[in-house]
Amino acid sequence: MARRGTLSWHEMKSGAEKSTLSSIAGLLLRAQSRLAHLDNSRLDAELLLTYATQQTRSWLHTWPERSVDDDVVQLFDELVERRASGVPLAYLRGQWDFWSLTLQVNNHTLVPRPETEHLVELTLSHAADASVIIDLGTGCGAIALALASELRDKSLIATDVSAEALAVAKNNALALQSNVEFVQCDWLTGLSNKCSDIVVSNPPYIACGDEHLVGDGVAFEPALALVGGTDGLDAYRQIIPQASRCLRPGGWLLLEHGHDQAAAVCELLSGAGYANIVTQADIARLDRVTTARRI
Ligand code: GLN
Repeated sequence: MARRGTLSWHEMKSGAEKSTLSSIAGLLLRAQSRLAHLDNSRLDAELLLTYATQQTRSWLHTWPERSVDDDVVQLFDELVERRASGVPLAYLRGQWDFWSLTLQVNNHTLVPRPETEHLVELTLSHAADASVIIDLGTGCGAIALALASELRDKSLIATDVSAEALAVAKNNALALQSNVEFVQCDWLTGLSNKCSDIVVSNPPYIACGDEHLVGDGVAFEPALALVGGTDGLDAYRQIIPQASRCLRPGGWLLLEHGHDQAAAVCELLSGAGYANIVTQADIARLDRVTTARRI
């Protein structure tokens, strides 16, 4: 007889194994096997089971032998199948952690990435004398809401061209009791000139046809939030001059970009007359954020 670890997904679902397999440990084992083609199969399985059971990961670890109800097993199996076909974990759970916040997300919003927390950190380090900060292309509101959670006395404005994304961001603001003001417009086009001390953005920066777009889950995310034209730089060509009109003299522009786009972004910034242009690496030591000052 085959050992447990060698059973296929379908064999493991067969009747004889059913009672053991509706235990927490059994469910996790076969989900992990079904998701073996993904990088974090065990973690994904655990996070989907916390969602299906409405329990914590510690609870799952405490009660491996406990059986769960059939409807929970059914929901879990469906979630595992969707994850196996590439749907991001964040969309299946409907939420994702960013900074110190748990944010609602859906397929109209990018899943917030850990490297974007670096952009938040850098913005905070430039914010001491700022009173108005604008986040462009806010998506689910991640950057603006993280900044607002740390800067209670500042005015935070967040724009996005997508009404669906703004609906998610507004729900997040409501849940967090945050007073970020949301404006539906293309980058800064809906805002008046010289109105801000800081402009920050994680715009779409992947080039059309880049292989990254077929990476795990990325195909399910909104192209509007990911793809920045043939060289990935279209958004910077719009944001950099617009921000120069919107920023007060001495104000800061902070831009996330691709690891190989720093030189191009710096050139666009210096061409538009910005000063103090500095690129910072992220935790993986990849060039990720460029900051510049409007003179
Ligand atoms: N960092 C994202 C990714 O790697 C891209 C985000 C963006 O285009 N702004 O998928």
